[in-house]
Amino acid sequence: MRMFFCAGNEENMKKAIYPGSFDPITFGHLDIITRASKLADELVIGVLNNSAKSSLFSVDERVTMIEEMTKDIPNVKVASFDGLLVDYMREIGATINVRGLRAVTDFEYELQIDQANHVQYPEMETIFLTSAVKYSYLSSTVVKEFASYGGDISKFVPKQIIDKIYEKYNINKE
Ligand code: ADP
Repeated sequence: MRMFFCAGNEENMKKAIYPGSFDPITFGHLDIITRASKLADELVIGVLNNSAKSSLFSVDERVTMIEEMTKDIPNVKVASFDGLLVDYMREIGATINVRGLRAVTDFEYELQIDQANHVQYPEMETIFLTSAVKYSYLSSTVVKEFASYGGDISKFVPKQIIDKIYEKYNINKE
């Protein structure tokens, strides 16, 4: 009798992180999450808790929203972290960092930060996924700009979070 053991063992497990502010999560982020989840055994969405940056949603609100949006992807986990990405990656045993690239302007910053991260944590690799053409203009900032004036954001974010965003600007779209 031949037996095959293919259950993932912890040591060989490829753990990736997709870090960001996700304030709020957009269709562009979700596209990257879906694609990146196929490249690793486990993908952690790392919501950055950056106290220096004022945010529309609290970290807990962002984590809850992302959990809801990704509940159908079994190997995706959502967590918050603060401090340096490389320290958090070491802590959770992640070796792959996923970043999305929309335009050349993203690239310049991402290249520099990745090279710096690599010096700190040589075992890590960053994977850059280019954004889907239909989302290449989309950012959390664009969403906030439109929402703050009561503009239509239905093409930017999932419908479950549209009202939560308007609420932050005291806009009632009933
Ligand atoms: P950060 O504060 O790190 O810029 P964001 O939440 O804005 O956090 O973005 C997280 C990651 O998602 C970044 O790598 C960013 O380039 C990428 N990203 C954001 N919007 C899009 C999009 N529309 N398409 C693809 N990638 C995106």
